[in-house]
Amino acid sequence: MAAPDQFLADTVITQPACRGRFAPSPTGPLHLGSVVAALASFLDARKAGGTWLVRMEDLDPPREVAGAASAILHTLERLGLCWDETVVYQSHRHEAYREALDKLEKNGLLYQCRCSRLQLAQQAIYPGTCRKHLPNPEQDSAIRCLVPATTFAFTDRLQGYCQQQLAAEVGDFIVRRKDRRFAYQLAVVVDDGWQAITDVVRGCDLLDSTPRQLYLQQQLGLPEPRYMHIPVIINSEGQKLGKQQFARPIDAAHASAVLWTSLNHLLQAPDLQLQQEHPSIILEWAVQHWQPEKLKGSRQIREQL
Ligand SMILES: [Zn+2]
Repeated sequence: MAAPDQFLADTVITQPACRGRFAPSPTGPLHLGSVVAALASFLDARKAGGTWLVRMEDLDPPREVAGAASAILHTLERLGLCWDETVVYQSHRHEAYREALDKLEKNGLLYQCRCSRLQLAQQAIYPGTCRKHLPNPEQDSAIRCLVPATTFAFTDRLQGYCQQQLAAEVGDFIVRRKDRRFAYQLAVVVDDGWQAITDVVRGCDLLDSTPRQLYLQQQLGLPEPRYMHIPVIINSEGQKLGKQQFARPIDAAHASAVLWTSLNHLLQAPDLQLQQEHPSIILEWAVQHWQPEKLKGSRQIREQL
């Protein structure tokens, strides 16, 4: 007979262990908004005793900045946000995305879209103009995925019940662009599945993408992770902090201050004296005290300077 400890260990193994990830695009240095997202996913995975991964979403070279990927990793290290497995670069995963497209193609879901930018600009939701076109492998065109007139719903850990009717609210969406680059929606689903991610923690700006991702997961036979969409950090003009708003890069030389500020934006109420501590002490405190429910229902948090 197994010893009680052994029995417990076996019981634990039957539950999929928590696996979270932070997936930045190397389009510039990390700013407060991205550090807050990284920290939230890190704390969530660590609190659950799980695994935390970093994935570089480098599928769009024209938007990327040379050296940004290594700068991001360096900053994460300085902050003490250390990942557990080899960093995955989406630019090395084209074969997997091609296989996923083949599968969608076999399911009869893909078609070429040759609409011009101007034609598309006139439509809020793509009206399916190119659905009837016969495929022409010679011609470079975007590839769209047919969506059903079905409502996709999920319960977000912070935002509660969310739903979207894909045909009415999104329309057939692009899975490979005209320049032959794979679209974010496809790549993220393939990689979350391949990396066995159980918990997606990311900004609320991606809430609207989730039903498309649930749909692709179903079509590709991938499991559905749990979702937690944290509020995005907005500046004094109400815009999301991002490279477009020239958000200041965070200064990893002041790692403790950055971590403390990020925790404050995550409404974790860190003690003031924690600011003086080493990043490892701050993170230890933050894991112990991680209470994502404090963010429940909020979609935006104003940047505190
Ligand atoms: Zn079209």
